[in-house]
Amino acid sequence: MFDKILIANRGEIALRVLRACKELGIATVAVHSTADAEAMHVRLADESVCIGPPPSKESYLNIPNLLAACEITGADAVHPGYGFLSENARFAEILAEHNLGFIGPKAEHIRLMGDKIEAKRTARRLGIPVVPGSDGAIESADAAMAVAEAIGFPVLVKAAAGGGGRGMKVAHTANDLALAISTAGNEARSAFGDASVYLEKYLQKPRHIEIQILGDGRGGAIHLGERDCSLQRRHQKVWEEGPSPVLTAAARARIGETCAKAMREMQYLGVGTIEFLYEDGEFYFIEMNTRIQVEHPVTEAITGIDLVLEQIRVANGGDLPATQDQIAISGHAIECRINAENPETFRPSPGKIVRYHPPGGLGVRIDSAVYQGYTIPPYYDSLVGKLIVHGKTRAECLMRLRRALDEIVVDGIETTLPLFRALARDADIIDGDYHIHWLEQYLSGGNSDR
Ligand code: ADP
Repeated sequence: MFDKILIANRGEIALRVLRACKELGIATVAVHSTADAEAMHVRLADESVCIGPPPSKESYLNIPNLLAACEITGADAVHPGYGFLSENARFAEILAEHNLGFIGPKAEHIRLMGDKIEAKRTARRLGIPVVPGSDGAIESADAAMAVAEAIGFPVLVKAAAGGGGRGMKVAHTANDLALAISTAGNEARSAFGDASVYLEKYLQKPRHIEIQILGDGRGGAIHLGERDCSLQRRHQKVWEEGPSPVLTAAARARIGETCAKAMREMQYLGVGTIEFLYEDGEFYFIEMNTRIQVEHPVTEAITGIDLVLEQIRVANGGDLPATQDQIAISGHAIECRINAENPETFRPSPGKIVRYHPPGGLGVRIDSAVYQGYTIPPYYDSLVGKLIVHGKTRAECLMRLRRALDEIVVDGIETTLPLFRALARDADIIDGDYHIHWLEQYLSGGNSDR
C-alpha cells in the first residue's frame, strides 16, 4: 500500500481524502496556497507544504510546485480530488515519469473522456446509447444545418472541451444556429483554448441520471447504481439524490450493466461516472467524468461502500470491494450543495463565518471544511459544505432533511440554505416530479409548464 499520499486539493474534498487515508493508516501531506494557511485540511494533515500564492494557476494547478512538495515530503502517490488537476492526463503522466502514483484512471482514459466528441464515439462503440447529433466537430455552417435539420430543432451546440456548463448554446430555430455556433465556439476558445463544437438534439424535459462505476484496471468493473442530479442551475448541480425517483430496479440493472460491461472492456481503473439524460424511458449518454464527484456521498449512503477508500485501494492494485451481486441499494439519500451565495441572486458571498453549528442525528452527514471563525476566501469555489441525509425511504429522507436544514446554523455570510429549506417543502420535489429545467423555472418565479 502507499505509505504517504499528497492531496493536491483543498476544501471539503481534501478533508474527505484525508479521512480515507487515516482509516487506511496512510500518512497525509496537505498542500495549500498562502490564502489557505488556516484551512482545515492543513490543520488535520500529518504534514503540509505551501505551494504558492492564492490564484489557483500559481498554486493548486502548479505542477512543478506539487512535484517539489512530493519530493520534500517523500510522498509516493497523489490524490487529485475533483476539479483542479483531477482530469489532466498530462499530470497523471508526469507523476508516472517521476515514479509517483496517481490515484485515478489511466492517462489514456482521462484523455479520451476529456474530449467529449471522442468520448461519445467511444460510448457508441461500447454499446452505450448516446444523444442524437453530429458525428464529430462541426466543420461548416452548411454541414451544421444539415445535421440540425436531420435531428430537428431545437439543437444544442456544445464545446468538445466543455466542462462546468460552459460553451453550450441552444438554437431553437434555423435562424439561431449560426449565432449559437459562433457564441459557443468563442466561449470555448476563451475557457478551454479549443473552439471546436458539436451538435446534439436539445432534449426538452429530461432528467440527469448518472451511473457510478468502479474498475480494477484489469478488466473487472461494477456499477453502484445511479444518482439523479436533475436539479440544476446554469447546468450546475444543486441537489442530488439516489435512487432516482423515476427509475425501476430493472431499468437500473440494465443501464448499470451496460456501463459496467463497457468499463470491463476498456479495463477502466478507479471511480468514474457515466452521465446520461433520461427522457421517455430512454437513456442518452452525454459525458463521462474520470474522477471522484462532488455528489459521491449519495452513493456511499445507499451502498455502504466508501468510494474514496476503494479508489485508493484499486489505484494500488487492490481488488474490487464486492461482486455485482453483493451490491445492494438500501434506502434513499439526498445531498444539498450549500454555497456561500445569495439565495436569490447567487452572487458569491465570501467572508467570515461568525457562528457555525452543523446538524446531527441518525442518517445526517456533513462534508465540509469550514469552522466557526473561518473566513471563506474569494479565490475558489463557493461551496460551504455538503449536507447528505439518508433514510429508509424517500419520504423519511425528506422528513429528516427538513429537520437537518432547520438545525444547521451558518452566520456571517449569505448561503443557499433558504433555497434548500423551500425545495424540501415543495410539492413537485416531494413528488419527485422535476426535470433539468425545473429549478431555473422555479427560480424565475413560475413553473407553469411543469
Ligand atoms: P458539462 O461538462 O459542461 O457539465 P454536460 O455535457 O455534462 O456538460 O451537460 C451539463 C448539463 O447540460 C446536463 O446535465 C443537462 O442539464 C444539460 N444538457 C447537456 N446536454 C443536453 C442536451 N442534449 N439536451 C438538453 N440538455 C442538455
